[in-house]
Amino acid sequence: MRRALYEADHEAYRETVRAFLEREVAPYKEQWDEDRWIDREVFKKAAAAGLYALEIGEEYGGSGVHDYRFRMVVCEEVARINALSFGVTISLQDDLVLHYLLDLTNDEQKHRWLPGYASGDTIGALAMTEPGAGSDLRGIRTSAVRDGDEWVVNGQKTFISSGIMADLVVLVARTDPDAGSRGFSLFVVESGTPGFERGRKLEKIGLPGQDTAELFFSDARVPHANLLGEEGKGLQYLMSHLPRERLGVTAKSMATSRAILDLTIDYCKQRRAFDQAVADFQHVRFELAEMQTEVEIAEAYVDRSVLAYNAGELDPIDAAKGKWYLSELQKRVVDRCLQLHGGYGYMTEYPVAKAFVDTRVQTIYGGTTEIMKDLIGRAIVR
Ligand SMILES: Cc1cc2nc3c(=O)[nH]c(=O)nc-3n(C[C@H](O)[C@H](O)[C@H](O)COP(=O)(O)OP(=O)(O)OC[C@H]3O[C@@H](n4cnc5c(N)ncnc54)[C@H](O)[C@@H]3O)c2cc1C
Repeated sequence: MRRALYEADHEAYRETVRAFLEREVAPYKEQWDEDRWIDREVFKKAAAAGLYALEIGEEYGGSGVHDYRFRMVVCEEVARINALSFGVTISLQDDLVLHYLLDLTNDEQKHRWLPGYASGDTIGALAMTEPGAGSDLRGIRTSAVRDGDEWVVNGQKTFISSGIMADLVVLVARTDPDAGSRGFSLFVVESGTPGFERGRKLEKIGLPGQDTAELFFSDARVPHANLLGEEGKGLQYLMSHLPRERLGVTAKSMATSRAILDLTIDYCKQRRAFDQAVADFQHVRFELAEMQTEVEIAEAYVDRSVLAYNAGELDPIDAAKGKWYLSELQKRVVDRCLQLHGGYGYMTEYPVAKAFVDTRVQTIYGGTTEIMKDLIGRAIVR
């Protein structure tokens, strides 16, 4: 079925993105995974080539383009070369951090943070999760107490993507222990802030190039000028920005499912057993038929979500539906594709093997499948 999402501009952009990735990412991605670190220079080059941060206004060095289809193109091209550690890092910049900086900052803050972000010199992270609070953010214990022109922050965060690399961290902290869900605020904590330390770079089963870290705050002194938006509205801001994060996971899931299925179809046509291509076994054709059908039907939902997002109309519950469904689909598709590769599918030099381990987290971060279903279920019976 022909996909109608894109126009000529997007296809031209695809060429640029593809050429960039072939030149600047494909030759280095294995090394980055081995080093468990992506060379920072690539983010400056990626920003200059327009691979991310397009939504930042021209006055701050961005392009002022608000069209999620360009991000979809990046997700698809990243998935095509299976550079998911790199892909998750720029998704973190675009789908998680940037919108807090665009939507909640005053002019002074925009001037301070956006130019570096647009040029790729500044890498951001978003720190919500703590050792004792992930799904239930109301359990956050990191505290911030006002002291004149500063806030004194104490606490710990964990599982923070790009936590080691980040120059600025959007931090969720409790500013009023007695105010319930109105007792949380957001701050930008910058590298070099006294009392802010990075902990371990965590060992993961997948996405090795993408750093994931613990962060510690011990009487860290954060200027009041780094408060994002209004005090006490932290959870409200998270709720209004999580749909974009979820759309980001959905987009990556869509792109990876499609890319791995396509290469598996080619593999099955070429691989021979019992004097025939494995694609000629009826079981294999049924596997491919089922996956192709599911991926195409999912594509229709994702495309609709992208257009709704562009129109400012993506309902948070619809974003939750896409997030759990697509990430679970990705898990199923990649697992079945690995099986169709036989023993080669288990070898890390084969893209499907890498995709298998990189996929697993998709149903966990950005809100687990269970939490998505809980949100959707509550909306249904409300
Ligand atoms: C690689 C990686 C990167 C991450 N990056 C970031 C980041 O950049 N910033 C950040 O803040 N966080 C990040 N996270 C954290 C991630 O968002 C959390 O791990 C996730 O939200 C789940 O929280 P938890 O780990 O505390 O699990 P828990 O909340 O302890 O959940 C444990 C299990 O219980 C289930 N569960 C919990 N509540 C319910 C319920 N109400 N109904 C049914 N089941 C329930 C969950 O679905 C899960 O299966 C990252 C995590 C990983 C693994």
